[in-house]
Amino acid sequence: MELFYQTKEDHPKTALIMTHLLPDGDAVGSAVALCELLETLDIHAKIVMEDTLPESLEWLRNERFVKVVEAWMHPVKAPFDVFVVDCSDLSRISDKFELFSKARKTYNIDHHVTNDLFAAVNQVDSAASSTGELIYRLFQAYEAPLTTRAAEAIYAAVSTDTGSFRYSNTSSETMRLAGTLIDFGIDTETINTRLYHNKPLDGVKLLGIALDNLLLLKGGKVAVSHVTLVEADAQEIVEYDTDGICEFLRDISGVEVALFLKETAAGVYKVSARSKYKFDVSRLALHFDGGGHTKAAGFTLSGILEEVRYKILEEITLAVEQT
Ligand code: 5GP
Ligand code: MN
Ligand code: MN
Repeated sequence: MELFYQTKEDHPKTALIMTHLLPDGDAVGSAVALCELLETLDIHAKIVMEDTLPESLEWLRNERFVKVVEAWMHPVKAPFDVFVVDCSDLSRISDKFELFSKARKTYNIDHHVTNDLFAAVNQVDSAASSTGELIYRLFQAYEAPLTTRAAEAIYAAVSTDTGSFRYSNTSSETMRLAGTLIDFGIDTETINTRLYHNKPLDGVKLLGIALDNLLLLKGGKVAVSHVTLVEADAQEIVEYDTDGICEFLRDISGVEVALFLKETAAGVYKVSARSKYKFDVSRLALHFDGGGHTKAAGFTLSGILEEVRYKILEEITLAVEQT
């Protein structure tokens, strides 16, 4: 991994770290770990975050997190750099774009195959399991010592993006990194409990609704389900309560592609797509102006549920038949 700053003179005094909307474990973990690294380089760093976090990630929040309005107060006077982590394109930092555009220099650290290299400096490796793994490589490049907070955050990032070290993006490097973090002394049992055994009841109930709405198509190779606003409101769900539902559908025996449509505003569907074998859901997502990875991607479509579903299925029919 290349160094961002070759000499001390290159260092900005202040850096802002940003990540994608509705942040996941890799987004938050990478931001927290990068913040620790920048601090060891004597760069005063803040994480700009408007979103609430899912309960499973709340423990990662610390005093470095600021809202957009607070971030404006400091940097406007002095030059600052912006680091965007785990984010494929600028549409996914929409509420922070103005800050981004005022930066002295911009950096993009990511592993999405659909990343469009939006910054001045782009460190994108789509072969990496997670952005967390890339942040660890930066610690190594700078020969910076890990802190407990960084080690826990990197573990959370890598573990969540690899499905607890199960998905095909889990390389031997990923496993060695996990070993290094365990040797460092992090308490993985406690972290795993916070990440995976801490689901809000309303979210679990929503999985029941999604299973009621499940359709298995194409000889059982395609699983499609949805939750409408009316169904979601009845459960008083929060934004993150649908996390994991699409993976659950993908895990059904025989299913190769899973689609989960979540109505986020009247007639607006946020679509999650997951693949088990060869089907490339990142291409499907790009077709609908979204993005992601080969096996996990997403996009948004508007319209009547049946029409939206038909539009997507039309795109994946051919591809599934070819695999
Ligand atoms: P999820 O389905 O969990 O929201 O997202 C799965 C993957 O696809 C994540 O890597 C996420 O960053 C990416 N993704 C989801 N929705 C979008 C989108 O609308 N645009 C882009 N570019 N990527 C997305
Ligand atoms: Mn992410
Ligand atoms: Mn990621």
